[in-house]
Amino acid sequence: MRVKLNVTGIVQGVGFRPFVYHTAVKNGLAGYVRNLGDAGVEVLLEGDAQGIQKFLRALIAEKPPLAQIESVESTDLSGKNEYNTFTIIQSSQTAEQSGSIIPPDVAICSPCLQELRDPQNPRHDYFFITCTDCGPRFTIIERLPYDRENTTMKEFPMCSFCKREYVEPANRRFHAQTVADSTCGPKAYLTTNDGEIVKVADPIREAGKLLSKGKILAIKGYGGFHIAASTVLEEPLLRLRETKHRCEKPFAIMAKSLEAAKAFAEVKTKEQELLTSSARPIVLLNKNADYNLSPLVAPHLHNVGVLLPYTGLHYMLFDNVADTSFVMTSANMPNQPIVKDNEDVYKILGGTVDYFLFHNRQVAYRCDDSVMRVHGNHPVFIRRSRGYAPAPLKLKQKSKHCTVGLGGELNNTSCILLGDKAFISQHIGDVENIETQSFLSEATEHLQRLTNCHAEVIACDLHPKFTATRLAKEMAETHGLPLVQVQHHHAHAAALMAEHGLDEIVAITCDGYGYGSDGNAWGGEILHCTQGSKEFRRLAHLEPHLLLGGDLASRYPLRLTAAMLSKTDVDAESWLLKNSARLPHGIVEAQLISDQLKSGVGIETTSCGRVLDAVSALLGLCDMRSYEGEPAMKLESVAVIGKDTLKLKPQISCGILDTTGLVKAIFDSLGKVSAADLAYSAHGYLAQGLAALAVEKAVVLGVKTVGFTGGAACNQILATLMRQTVELAGLRFVLHEAAPPGDGGVSFGQAIVAGFGDF
Ligand SMILES: [Zn+2]
Ligand SMILES: [Zn+2]
Repeated sequence: MRVKLNVTGIVQGVGFRPFVYHTAVKNGLAGYVRNLGDAGVEVLLEGDAQGIQKFLRALIAEKPPLAQIESVESTDLSGKNEYNTFTIIQSSQTAEQSGSIIPPDVAICSPCLQELRDPQNPRHDYFFITCTDCGPRFTIIERLPYDRENTTMKEFPMCSFCKREYVEPANRRFHAQTVADSTCGPKAYLTTNDGEIVKVADPIREAGKLLSKGKILAIKGYGGFHIAASTVLEEPLLRLRETKHRCEKPFAIMAKSLEAAKAFAEVKTKEQELLTSSARPIVLLNKNADYNLSPLVAPHLHNVGVLLPYTGLHYMLFDNVADTSFVMTSANMPNQPIVKDNEDVYKILGGTVDYFLFHNRQVAYRCDDSVMRVHGNHPVFIRRSRGYAPAPLKLKQKSKHCTVGLGGELNNTSCILLGDKAFISQHIGDVENIETQSFLSEATEHLQRLTNCHAEVIACDLHPKFTATRLAKEMAETHGLPLVQVQHHHAHAAALMAEHGLDEIVAITCDGYGYGSDGNAWGGEILHCTQGSKEFRRLAHLEPHLLLGGDLASRYPLRLTAAMLSKTDVDAESWLLKNSARLPHGIVEAQLISDQLKSGVGIETTSCGRVLDAVSALLGLCDMRSYEGEPAMKLESVAVIGKDTLKLKPQISCGILDTTGLVKAIFDSLGKVSAADLAYSAHGYLAQGLAALAVEKAVVLGVKTVGFTGGAACNQILATLMRQTVELAGLRFVLHEAAPPGDGGVSFGQAIVAGFGDF
């Protein structure tokens, strides 16, 4: 009997061919297995029917841990048997839109970690030890199929020892493309910040010692450079904050081990699962009572982003030091993508760091660390990148058109929708300048190549001035394709709907800003959306408030507080003058704001983020936003120990949730009620008000599901309180788990709206 199989999914770079080889040999079959140019795998089997049946069962039941089989297409072949043995043969360039994809980068596996630590092992202390089950993938692959010559490992020909393992079927590095050791593989070296080589026998452990002594280092990893520093010494952290222009933005830290993380943070079961998973994301953990790291790591926040080592190099940094954690933050200048090339790095980071720890392998595609937090038992992506991208999200239905979504502006990603799979790119960042714009183009083109996507539709935001919108228009024009512009919050809602396979939703979409269908600044919206429709209905929203000075109001939230107070009987002008020292230009600015308030002219916003910002400023928690979401995050951090003392009843009229009364009530309680209780009460009011509105509309429309999406859905208190209200009303409540609720999920939502629509 002769059978040809076409296997799709994540089947290259995961030890699939060796597995197929062993399974075929075990069942007495002859034939071959090979990688295809579209990330799929082809298998030809010759042998008796029983052997082939057993093979097919084992293919699914015993597949390698990292493999994901989407489909197995089997064709019976006629003719005589041609093979005497089973072999792994040269890859074919054959490429179709198969829906297969290469895997994300995978953290070092435990057998490799054991070998790293075993003085008897030939790869003892080799910092880039990997096998078929672990190592970089997405960040080293330049083109398909996944063979060494198509990766940045091509510059490192295998030595005889590695080659022996590579060709030995019984070895766990049989056909492992990243196999390497200290003889043939990438090398690590240390330099000063002006490029002078530091001559040491062990550059990695020396780097650890330098960190421990208070030096700042740039460390090259899989997807780009990290900046690393001590987590306990003030001097390097202060210096880092100054030179990186990061006043208060929290730094992620790498803990030596799970135990080390537990010493300063609470780690719940689900968080532990994520921390130790092969994706190794940064997980936001609540600081515990013993938290003893410098306050400069994550200032004024109740949580801290922690990740565990994911390469041999990371583990070795901690070997000869007492430190159990180091700051490990993406090396990028503000609004620039993560630095990846050795050549650029002195120019970009030389003024920030004291030393560089390099390796000499190229990063093919840059990839930042992923960031997650856990709500109850549900993972939430704050950033979906290394360890996850480019693995697809599986949809309930097949889309009508192969679509490319280019996303919005901040925290951007792009997305390719192909059949029933959505491939979201790695984190691109804020697309505001030429560097991030070309990163967006390159990442999207690479993803198109990897998926063999022949785009039929291009999707983007409604905002006419976004760089990504311009790029999408160019792309559509060049290729003569239709362009679909999707309203920002509609995209959020569509993403949530698609993720849960819903036909209809009433979505609470809350964030900082999205360009509304009417051209206004939206951000606290209740939308009714149906699957496959390009239209949506805006059912309700938060009360609009003046955004005095536009972007200035987002940067200096006191302006928002003043605008809201001016609608009450509070004398907003004297309040502003009293607080003028908190404005960058003092009394002059306070006076100017008061004058503008009196005229009442300006753009308005319904943003939920801006209300949280205004409350944060009113409570004195944040006068200047130095990073995205800062005032709201600090408000949440204070609220976690609070309770709903104010118990305000949501004031709703004509589909608008009043927020002026909220700010007035907090104003009246200042000094009488704790900041924690006031912060919590504000969350309670917004969550219950928005949920009540959504429930009311859902009941009228007969919609069974209410969802919460947008950047504010990363807020645990809001999400938890909304769930209570919605479920109490007997409706289903959904949140994102697979796609980011924030703007990293917008490209996905755009692709959904366009890809399922009719033209
Ligand atoms: Zn391994
Ligand atoms: Zn070697």
